[in-house]
Amino acid sequence: MASETLVNDSPAPAVFDSEAAGCLVKELRYTFLSGKTRSYEWRLSQLKSLLKMMEDSEKQICDALFSDLSKPEMEAYIHEVAMIKSSCKLALKKLKDWMKPEKAKTNLGTFPSTAEIVPEPLGVVLVISAWNYPLLLSVDPVIGAIAAGNAVVLKPSELASAMSSLLAKLLGKYLDNSAIKVVEGAVPETSVLLEQKWDKIFYTGNGRVARIVMAAAAKNLTPVVLELGGKSPVLVDSNIDLAVTSRRILSGKWGCNNGQACVAPDYLITTKQYAPVLIESLKHNLVKFFGEDPMKSPDLSRVGNPNHFARLKKLLDDDKVSGKIIHGGQADKSSLKIAPTIILDAPEDSLIMTEEIFGPLLPIMTVEKIEDGIEFINSRAKPLAAYLFTNNKQLKEKFVSNISAGGVVINDVTLHLMVDTLPFGGVGESGMGAYHGKFSFDSFSHKKAVLYRGFFGDAPARYPPYTPGKLRLLKALLDGSLLGIIRALFGFS
Ligand code: NAD
Repeated sequence: MASETLVNDSPAPAVFDSEAAGCLVKELRYTFLSGKTRSYEWRLSQLKSLLKMMEDSEKQICDALFSDLSKPEMEAYIHEVAMIKSSCKLALKKLKDWMKPEKAKTNLGTFPSTAEIVPEPLGVVLVISAWNYPLLLSVDPVIGAIAAGNAVVLKPSELASAMSSLLAKLLGKYLDNSAIKVVEGAVPETSVLLEQKWDKIFYTGNGRVARIVMAAAAKNLTPVVLELGGKSPVLVDSNIDLAVTSRRILSGKWGCNNGQACVAPDYLITTKQYAPVLIESLKHNLVKFFGEDPMKSPDLSRVGNPNHFARLKKLLDDDKVSGKIIHGGQADKSSLKIAPTIILDAPEDSLIMTEEIFGPLLPIMTVEKIEDGIEFINSRAKPLAAYLFTNNKQLKEKFVSNISAGGVVINDVTLHLMVDTLPFGGVGESGMGAYHGKFSFDSFSHKKAVLYRGFFGDAPARYPPYTPGKLRLLKALLDGSLLGIIRALFGFS
């Protein structure tokens, strides 16, 4: 039985069951079929309203992020508000170009003809979002869905409840509710949504639920984008600028929602020889960034919820790991805070080295030679991101060509997702499909192949009765042999 939920234009909370979900999709399909969402003007007006919503509501958004995660205002603004504004502005600027059909070359076999690739909206799409970047991961895919001309239902994460209700309120107020809806709720509500027929499901979250989403989608042959996570490694060579490297790793790990980011470094690998130098620098900068008592730092988010706190505590309390903590380790259940923690050489089969950490714990693994790190990474599931710090050109080349990951960054971490000309998505266990910039538009569009012909130049050779002469001509045509065509036309074998 589904629990109480809120659909953004409903007058009062109602039970959101299969029937309600069915009605919702029916209404959106009706809007989509009216053609309203296809027009350039509609897409533009919705994107402009979304941008206005962001400008009007910055404080409410930052407050919700603080309430859900104690997210520092600087991170809330840079990683969520500013990213959404820039995504919206890019879509507004490029929308006309993105919507334009793309000319395609034709060949002798269809002569005379012209062809183009026409992007068309998929229809009614579902976006299911996660709790750790609850604004960004909800609104960014919605921007792509609107830009591509779809009707859309957003299901934010119940684990970021302040943001979930704020999104229901704001999207209800600023956007066209006949085509864009927010459904709040947890597993029951998501389950009844997944029973419906969608034209695309865009899911952000963990691999276990991704399998549930994909199984539900398979029933209707619905395509999916799965934005998942994994253990994103950082390989650290010794010929580097240590101070810069250490600062960048710290900001990508603890300065990104206290490690609760899909692209945050999950573990480091360095050589046995270099490890002491790197560790000293990390420890030094941790104190510089977050003070002697990081549990009191206002610049660290808290752990998202009690379940994740218990999960992280279990990783730390593991017998194989607890003796290997070389920095941090403090945890306070009542405030859901865990200090930045470094663990040296946890066994490969420990939980912390087999599960995605998604929190403030950073294991460091040591190897004899730096190249061994590549082997180590390749022996595990394909990560969402892989990072390398080095000045060695050959190592860079080897890393880029040998490591399969959603994205790779050399000499920094996490920044690739700020580059909107790069696709953002995973591979293998870290997901499928990608978005950001034009990739978001493409992700919610079908690329329709269109061939245009006139009535001139109808070749009798393609029609029965088939003869050896016709076959010779068609073979020459399909081979693209001008000489063969001339010979066939003049009847030479
Ligand atoms: P979550 O718990 O918020 O779940 C995500 C969504 O799945 C929610 O909307 C939730 O209601 C729904 N859900 C949960 N259980 C369900 C079920 N049984 N059936 C149907 N729907 C269900 O988020 P999470 O999974 O804890 O998120 C963390 C994971 O997401 C990490 O693995 C992280 O790496 C990954 N992540 C990936 C990206 C990315 O962009 N690739 C971004 C953020 C997080």
